[in-house]
Amino acid sequence: MANCAIVGVNWGDEGKGRMVDLVAEHYDVVARYQGGNNAGHTVINEYGKFALHLLPSGIFRPDVLSVLGNGVVIDPEALCAEMDALTSAGVSITPENLCISDRAVLVFPYHRDLDALEEARLKDACYGSTKRGIAPVYSDKYQKKTIMAGELLYPAYLKEHLRGILEWKNLTLTKVYGAKPYALDELLDWLETYGGRLRPFIRDTGAVLRAATAADKRILFEAQLGALRDIDYGIFPYTSSSSPLASYAPVGCGMPEAKVDTVIGVAKAYSTCVGEGPFVTEWFGEDAEKLREAGGEYGAATGRPRRVGPLDLVATRYGAKVQGASCIALTKLDILSYMESIPVCTRYEIDGRETTEFPFPALLSHAKPVYETLPGWQCDVSGVRRFADLPQNAQRYVKYIENAVGCPIRYISVGAERQAIIEEV
Ligand code: GDP
Repeated sequence: MANCAIVGVNWGDEGKGRMVDLVAEHYDVVARYQGGNNAGHTVINEYGKFALHLLPSGIFRPDVLSVLGNGVVIDPEALCAEMDALTSAGVSITPENLCISDRAVLVFPYHRDLDALEEARLKDACYGSTKRGIAPVYSDKYQKKTIMAGELLYPAYLKEHLRGILEWKNLTLTKVYGAKPYALDELLDWLETYGGRLRPFIRDTGAVLRAATAADKRILFEAQLGALRDIDYGIFPYTSSSSPLASYAPVGCGMPEAKVDTVIGVAKAYSTCVGEGPFVTEWFGEDAEKLREAGGEYGAATGRPRRVGPLDLVATRYGAKVQGASCIALTKLDILSYMESIPVCTRYEIDGRETTEFPFPALLSHAKPVYETLPGWQCDVSGVRRFADLPQNAQRYVKYIENAVGCPIRYISVGAERQAIIEEV
């Protein structure tokens, strides 16, 4: 049976959570494969409105198994808070419908501290981190100095392992940053309070996914952030510390040998970006305010106002390519309804030369957007459910994007609610 990945082709916040929530009913398993609680998916459904940071967006479907893979980094305190928020809204979360990889790495309070301390040290040159400890914990992973979730099942082993790591961590905290050290007992208590609750969910997710595949079950891989934040292919160093690419999905879930059959690349009808780094089509002033307000562009994890601007087709085309997108889900078309005319960036001018190719990161800060302007439709499209019923100019806008990105648009989202979608464009 076919596997599918739902991934972002831009900077993140494209509306992936909403797309996973929509299609999850066709899948038996929804698996997150990278990142931590540094980004958030917003999902609106019959249970209410939720900002999911760690839990896969399939968690609302009772028959769906949600998986947090080995590529994910888990702050036990944050995960418990998220589970509590959902269970108190009536969502059932049990070891039958959620499993956590024994190889997922745990985020500790000192990772959050180090994130904040380093951003403070950098002052104006900071990366715009969400300070959830994600970069520090991934660096520790590659230094082989982290605790895996599975160690919660072996407390004596965990205690000795953590003792060694903490000795090293406290040196960094106190001698590099002049911050307070952590006591081993303090961290063990914290782990027991939050990690203890996660024990029943910890499994070898590779075994779970292989068994699901053998039983012809369908797997949906869910990414966080977008292609332009990929550690290898994104706008380095303004990237995340993991890979939000579809090709990483099997590796980050426990089944590296799996093939992703379909990749749904989620793109927003205009561009937004959270945090620092080059953002070529950024608008400022009144235009930006209007678009930000219309789109409700405030971060799901931090509430920070997002940077906004016209659709950057150069970046979107690149994002769709590195994601290997089989099709595009274009979200938030309804937000553009107020505009009389809509600019889209088709190419960059860099040091006097025009290019349609996404350049090396160092060149992006010199890039100036070159726009084409398309006519707007200026009427509400949120109730439309068939492509043919969209106003002519909205159809034209969609087709223009499809052409420029070179990938078929299969879904158009015209509202945040599950049903506000046009399928099979
Ligand atoms: P994600 O991280 O990619 O899931 O994206 P976010 O959840 O951060 O941002 C998407 C936001 O847009 C959420 O608040 C969604 O509820 C909302 N949203 C998604 N698709 C649409 C749409 O087509 N129209 C409108 N108006 N809102 C949408």
